[in-house]
Amino acid sequence: MTETAQQKLQTQFLQAADVIEWCLHSGRTEIDSGIPHATGGGAYGTTSEPVLLQPKIRIHITYELFEPLMTMQLNKAERALDTFRAASTIVHELAHAIWLIRRPKLATKYRTEPFFELERTAELGFSAENVMFGGCVSDLMGASQHILGRDCMPAAAIRSRSSWDTVWYCEYSKGSPNLIPPHPSYYSREDWPIPVEWFFKIQDQGFWDVWAKKFGPKAIHMGPKVVGYRRSVPNTTVTKPDLNDKTLKVGRSKHWAAPEGPYLPWDAAKTPENIAIMNEENARRRKTDSLQDALERRVQDVRNAVVGTGPAWPPPAILPRIIPVIPEPPRYLEIKNHLLNCWYELAIDTMDFNMPEHTMFNYILAEGGLQITFSEWREFLEYSQQTNVLFMYTRIGASTGVLRKIDRGWPPVAVRTRPRPNFFTRPSARSMRMFRRLCLDVIDKWACFEDGFKDHDWNDFYQRLNIRYSYENDRMLLKDAFRRPIRKINRRMFDALVYQSYRTNFMITYGPRNCLRLMTPPSNARERLRPQGDPCPTM
Ligand SMILES: [Zn+2]
Repeated sequence: MTETAQQKLQTQFLQAADVIEWCLHSGRTEIDSGIPHATGGGAYGTTSEPVLLQPKIRIHITYELFEPLMTMQLNKAERALDTFRAASTIVHELAHAIWLIRRPKLATKYRTEPFFELERTAELGFSAENVMFGGCVSDLMGASQHILGRDCMPAAAIRSRSSWDTVWYCEYSKGSPNLIPPHPSYYSREDWPIPVEWFFKIQDQGFWDVWAKKFGPKAIHMGPKVVGYRRSVPNTTVTKPDLNDKTLKVGRSKHWAAPEGPYLPWDAAKTPENIAIMNEENARRRKTDSLQDALERRVQDVRNAVVGTGPAWPPPAILPRIIPVIPEPPRYLEIKNHLLNCWYELAIDTMDFNMPEHTMFNYILAEGGLQITFSEWREFLEYSQQTNVLFMYTRIGASTGVLRKIDRGWPPVAVRTRPRPNFFTRPSARSMRMFRRLCLDVIDKWACFEDGFKDHDWNDFYQRLNIRYSYENDRMLLKDAFRRPIRKINRRMFDALVYQSYRTNFMITYGPRNCLRLMTPPSNARERLRPQGDPCPTM
């Protein structure tokens, strides 16, 4: 690279640095809403382009990645692995951010990233890791355990996925054009445990000053790759294969990996400094060979022992699982009765999704009529979970708990219908169709109910719905009894539309006091669009 090109690149990086905002957030919650991920897993980093902050780019790095580093009990190797895991996450997210900053205007309407060189997976984070480190790292002890609040060991070992650009990562290319034919290694995946020496080396200034300068990017690549593992699937596979699939073709490295190449010749080393470097490299390659040989011999020994008549291995001991029994909390019945009494006010009838425990707690406090502390609420939920009555409750370690209503313990279905609003007249099928379209417009335009959060302020939604309605032309407007267009949906009409929507599982239903709730769409939505009884005379 010429000096001018280097300077140009440096300027581009500095300009990018002005635009990027770095944030720390928890890997177990959504970055915008703070609601726990529904999947229960965790993310290491997320790069976003918040509409309100344009042209700023935000990189969120999961703070749970740094938590293990705050203990003094880590040994040198553990610290090196955990440091690298956090650093490579930063590299990964930075690649996404640079694309968002430098992409051409035309590309802004596409959500996917471009393909890098001959790769078939459009994921620039992995591409950057691959170029820098000669593969992508994944940890044997995932940080998701920390993220879920469990006490656990640090990363312990990092394995490299030297071949990340495979059908295992096909979901990253959703929405991108398919490149046909894919390269042959697209259908196999390699995993290599990387010795901890590499992580020491990469975090040593001396390595960068001498070694990396001397041998260029190749010297930085992960290694030595001593014993690898390869899984292959047929080249007709289109979806992500299951790694536990026993029919996958599995191979150990000795049988397919190309050797690291001949030892470096001595005549290339002219200066004492070069001789020292080559000495070290040759020692590394000899170690690789001897480890591979040792492994092969060990495998052969085991095979001989199994084929021979040695004693059978004892079966693994099965430890009994101890489940603590929680006694009934003192205020359990009082809270239960309160929830039964406030069945509609707290919108328990329309609750058919996972809800964070603190959200429901706040609804109870806002509704009033019951004074409880958060600990009492949590005890109540834990007891409900144990007795399998009212709510299912999950909480892992220190994480936020999530609850879900179950059928047991609530009033029977027959007595569960809400009363009609005052002055109710049933909206026509046409009104309901229009209502649905307006709701979709509001949700799309203002991102109400974003990030899976199902409740929204009643009044705010009503106002926004009317703003959308005001864009309709005369032909599209609802008509009154005298066939005159109605310019504004009044409160009474809105109440009737929401009630009808609730009765017919249409789309929007009742949330807790002053809130609307988005319904989980029924599978037979088409059926529901048919007129229900007489059309309404005034709508
Ligand atoms: Zn990524």
